Amino acid sequence: MTKLVKSTSGVRGIVFDGLHPAMATRYGAAFGTLLKSGRVVVGRDSRPSGEVLMPSVIAGLRSVGIEVIEIGIVPTPTVEIAVQKLRAAGGICITASHNPAQWNALKFFNNRGEFITPTQYRKLDNIFEKQKFAYKPHAGMGEISTQDNWVEEHVRQTLALKVVKRAAVKRRRFKVVVDAVNGAGSLALPLLLRKLGVSVVELNCRGDGDFVREPEPVAGNITGLARAVKKHRADLGMACDPDADRLALVDEKGRPAGEELTLALAAAAVLSSRRGPTVINLSTSKVTVDTARSCGSKVYYSKVGEANVVQMMRRKKAVIGGEGNGGVIYPAFHAGRDALVAAALVLSHLAGEKTTLSKLVSTFPAYYTVKTKGRLRGNFTSRLKSFEKEIRRLVGKTRVDRRDGLRFDFDQGWVQIRASNTEPIYRVIVETRSRTFSQRLSVKVTKFFS
Ligand code: MG
Repeated sequence: MTKLVKSTSGVRGIVFDGLHPAMATRYGAAFGTLLKSGRVVVGRDSRPSGEVLMPSVIAGLRSVGIEVIEIGIVPTPTVEIAVQKLRAAGGICITASHNPAQWNALKFFNNRGEFITPTQYRKLDNIFEKQKFAYKPHAGMGEISTQDNWVEEHVRQTLALKVVKRAAVKRRRFKVVVDAVNGAGSLALPLLLRKLGVSVVELNCRGDGDFVREPEPVAGNITGLARAVKKHRADLGMACDPDADRLALVDEKGRPAGEELTLALAAAAVLSSRRGPTVINLSTSKVTVDTARSCGSKVYYSKVGEANVVQMMRRKKAVIGGEGNGGVIYPAFHAGRDALVAAALVLSHLAGEKTTLSKLVSTFPAYYTVKTKGRLRGNFTSRLKSFEKEIRRLVGKTRVDRRDGLRFDFDQGWVQIRASNTEPIYRVIVETRSRTFSQRLSVKVTKFFS
């Protein structure tokens, strides 16, 4: 049996191996025990295993007296919005996000519709491990009801945001190819765009969980979308991951803009009309930092992980934030990554700038990011320590941030090395203004750790 991978962004495992129905039931019971009472919203992405895992989770919740509102196949952010609007005690979304189809996972949300905090997660895990479930006698079993209108509601609320320039977007009569990887965004994203007057070409929008491409919306995985954009002479392409909290773009020439650009564009859209700080994680490209600063916004970094970004956004009263992997968080709506919000913001900005996506992208500073990873071996912490000397030898003077692995900022760019939260690997990110320098430096850094 494979292991369950636990982190603040949820518990994930290989379906019916590390993550089996009995475990999902225990997690349902543990989450209900943690919340004590109230209602919990439960939704899932389109993975077939969700058909089995969702009733399992629900059984656990109801057995400890929690009322369940089941909202079907929806994007992760839709669960967050439903929790807020229904004043629920919490939410669970059954989705392994960008992981391949054999994986599934449970994501837990608190009564604000945000990822539970690390402290809440530790309590949940303790209840789960010790199996101290507050089972209710039969008369106390939680009720269940089904609501199937939440995708439409999510779209409606997104369109109602002031920062979304509906009229300007409509005037542009954009044509957009949408690649939803047959995930939970298959209905939501095309619906949102059509309501914005966009002519939509659907690619992988059947919503049946058949991941016809690698589900992570990085450039190498969305070549089909790139071809479709050219073929249909569309203005742009949009790709999301299976739970539609990340969005990547392809320009009208069929070139992926890089997932880092999504957040930069969304930040520009928000900061052109609202003043306030920006929060990003320590792995996010400087293109967003430069964009935010040029709009007069102060930029703060948080540790990697949506819960950490959201906590920092709250503390700094940020008006925009997110992760460079295409995860845009607009807290005036709700504090979670949301591909629908990202799409609406990008189109609003593009409409306002009265130009094409490729031209707009070319106005942003070009950074060359090289991401590599390797297996964790030996004493990673002590290797990190000795790397501090090495990096100074390679790039000269640096500023170091030790909150999440190590991040070094220097004149030409930055380097981050951290152990993954979800896999037994380490990740290295190198970003500078020069392609060759980024590549060379990445090779040297990776060599040091291998
Ligand atoms: Mg996701």
